Amino acid sequence: MRGLVDWFHREGADLPWRRTRDRYRVLVAEAQLQATPVGRVLPYYERFISLWPTAADMARADLGEVLAEWQGLGYPRRARNLHAAAGVVAVSGWPDRLTDLPGVGAYTAAAIRCFADGEDVLPVDTNAARVVARRFPGGWPGAPGLGWEAGQAIMDLGRLWCTARAPRCEQGCPMREGCPAADAGTVAELTPVRRPQGRYEGSMRQRRGRLLRELADCGWVERDRDPEAAESLVADGLARARDDRLVRVGGGV
Ligand code: SF4
Repeated sequence: MRGLVDWFHREGADLPWRRTRDRYRVLVAEAQLQATPVGRVLPYYERFISLWPTAADMARADLGEVLAEWQGLGYPRRARNLHAAAGVVAVSGWPDRLTDLPGVGAYTAAAIRCFADGEDVLPVDTNAARVVARRFPGGWPGAPGLGWEAGQAIMDLGRLWCTARAPRCEQGCPMREGCPAADAGTVAELTPVRRPQGRYEGSMRQRRGRLLRELADCGWVERDRDPEAAESLVADGLARARDDRLVRVGGGV
């Protein structure tokens, strides 16, 4: 474990959400990083933190504004949940059980505990699960006193070295020494199969995204343009129906 942490200190990526231990900022980063690569998230994270540096700032913002800034990141339910979670925190503080917050599941709760609070808890997403299966087949051993560093190191390892498709075991992986999967030649077997994503072109995701983009630009759009997508946005609380129009949601806390 010491080797992993030392490597992270030497070569870990310098990311803006690693320069804070603020729970809200970690939550913003984690919401944006779900299903979106780091490189794409960077400008969005910076923009969100400059617009809404605290949970109270975001809670005061209009949901429509937050959704407009989210344009291009995809999966806008994440923005709605983030806004709702900020509202809860602004009004009542952080709940004892972080999973009580909208949109916060076991992974995000663990990420807040590890990356904001520095607890020795590993947030296990697909990448971390893969790294642990290969490098720590007996299960994550923990890193007392080094939870933050170890958690961040596993994230970098899974993203840059111990990848699903092209693990770089023999190209300098910092955890190669003593790696059970690499030694046994079972790396490929220990790669969870990902469910293939459906086509984006013509999908409901694309149609909803199109309407949301127009809402962000103009504030309204005819529901007739795509009644089914419009209805699903309304059902998800991402837009409102007003007569024959779809309009932006509003109303901060
Ligand atoms: S040696 Fe290979 S399997 Fe082991 S941690 Fe490194 S990249 Fe992953």
